[in-house]
Order: sequence, then structure tokens, then C-alpha cells
Amino acid sequence: MPAKILDGKALALSLREGIAREVSVLAQNTGVKPGLAAILVGDDPASAVYVRNKKIACEKAGLYPEEHLLPTSTSQETLLALIHQLNADSKIHGILVQLPLPSHIESKAVLQAVSPEKDADGFHPVNVGRLVEGDPVFVPCTPKGVIHMIDSTGLDISGKRAVVIGRSNIVGKPVGMLLLHRHATVTICHSRTKDLPSIVREADIVIAAIGKPFFVTANMVKQGAVVIDVGINRLDNGKLAGDVDFEHVKEHAGWLTPVPGGVGPMTIAMLLQNTLESAKRFAKQ
Ligand code: NAD
Repeated sequence: MPAKILDGKALALSLREGIAREVSVLAQNTGVKPGLAAILVGDDPASAVYVRNKKIACEKAGLYPEEHLLPTSTSQETLLALIHQLNADSKIHGILVQLPLPSHIESKAVLQAVSPEKDADGFHPVNVGRLVEGDPVFVPCTPKGVIHMIDSTGLDISGKRAVVIGRSNIVGKPVGMLLLHRHATVTICHSRTKDLPSIVREADIVIAAIGKPFFVTANMVKQGAVVIDVGINRLDNGKLAGDVDFEHVKEHAGWLTPVPGGVGPMTIAMLLQNTLESAKRFAKQ
């Protein structure tokens, strides 16, 4: 039987509707409107699209969006000064710095400058540490969206074999940690993993976060597995593709996410969710 397709667009839409309702209740009860500041340095077209989409999503859900579009020549000092200003701004409850940053700026220093209380992407070392401890405040948006998508299948993650392909700080490692906290038995594969296909074949849950189109092929996937494709790759013909060979894997998997329309929309919904949760914490103070 072909895989059921996990419609990230529909799932994200229903989440965003719920967020919009909560935003309006929060504003009525406390006068606090969740504010998200997005900072983009440079003119990378893909990053510009991401930032614009995040702004539109904020507006639709009733959040207050602030966009800071800075030229490539922006110095690290100027960027850090802006972050400090936003850290102190009571209208702002979430700050995101769109990556990648230009090479003359040290990303680590910039991410560490964001207040851990406003770190909507969950990249600050304090939030990374809390995630590892199992007591997270901000969970990185894409991994949070991935778990939400698995939950939407009704599968109980506890006790399942999960294989994450990719070990980046923004996707692979945190998604592995979240699965571990949900009591999955987790293996993280990467570019030096030996006999990767045989490891992936054992998985009840496969998360592909590599950045290589069609990397996960049908013969790597166990019949009925849940396959979540995080990859976004631009092909020579201009089309987008994930890391999974969708057409063939769908004949083996139990559940499968498409690209586009899978994890991508969930990432934005989780960013709104993180900002809302942050605003609620500020409103309580
Ligand atoms: P990254 O480049 O930081 O990490 C890629 C990982 O893949 C590395 O850990 C590397 O070890 C592993 N890898 C590379 N080649 C491999 C191979 N041959 N075999 C096994 N592992 C291999 O990438 P990232 O930031 O984690 O992003 C991964 C993909 O997910 C990209 O396509 C990116 O565009 C996409 N992405 C999507 C979203 C979303 O919202 N949908 C968010 C973030 C990233």
C-alpha cells in the first residue's frame, strides 16, 4: 500500500489558526501582543524569501512582526548593537537571525548575543543545554515541527527505532535529542557512517536532514516506516526536491512528507508558537 502523505501545509495552517486564537486571547487578557524581530544581513534570495514568509505568517496570526534588513557590509558590532537593543525592547518576545550570515561575521558570537529569553530559534547555548537536559524553554523550530508531524500520524514514538541522517546543530542533533526524550532508540548517521543503508533499513522512523537530493532511496526504507524529509534542494531545472526519493519511497513507507509542503511550513508555524509561548512567559512576569 502506498504511503500516506503528511500534508505539512494543512497541519501548519490548523496550528496557525490555533495560534491566532491564542494571540487574540493573550492580547485581550494582558494587553501583550507577541512580537517577533527577524534580522537578515545581506541579499541572499532564499533567505529573503524565508524572512518575508515569516513576516506574512506573523501578520496573519496577529503577531507583531519587525523586519531588520541590513546590507552585506554590516559590521559585527552594528549587528550586535541591534541585537542588544532588541533584547531590551518590551515589544519583542522573539528574535531570529537568519542564517547564513556573511563570512566576516562570527555566527556563534551573534547567536550568543540573543537573550536566551527571546531566542525563538532555540540556538543559544543556554537553550541547547536545557534541551539536552530535557527541560527545554525554546525548542528549535524545524525539529519541533518534525516531532509534531510524527505525532500527527498517531504513532507512539516510545520504544521505536529512529534513525536521523545528518548531525547539524539546527536539525540533526536537536531532532535526535527530542526523539530520545520521547523514548525512541536513536541512531544519528552522518557523512562518515559506514553502511548507512543497512542502519536506515532498521528504522521505524527516518528523519532525513542532509541537503542531498534523492539521497534516501526505496531500498533503504523499511515497509511502513514514517519518513520525514527535512531537506530542501534546488534542482538544475529550478524545482525543489527533498533528500528522499519521494516517488519510489512512497511505495515502501507508511507515512511520508513531501517537499515542498512538508516540514517547511511546520518550521514557520513552530516559530510563531515559540514567540507566543515567550510572550506568555513575559506577560506572567
Ligand atoms: P548541514 O549541511 O548543516 O548538515 C548536513 C548533515 O548531513 C551533516 O551533518 C552531514 O554529516 C550530513 N551528510 C552530508 N553528506 C552525507 C552523506 N553522504 N551521508 C550521510 N550524511 C551526510 O545541513 P542542515 O542545516 O542540517 O540542513 C539539512 C537540509 O535540511 C538542507 O537541505 C536544508 O536546506 C534543509 N533544512 C530545511 C529546513 C526546513 O524548514 N524544512 C530547515 C533547516 C534545514
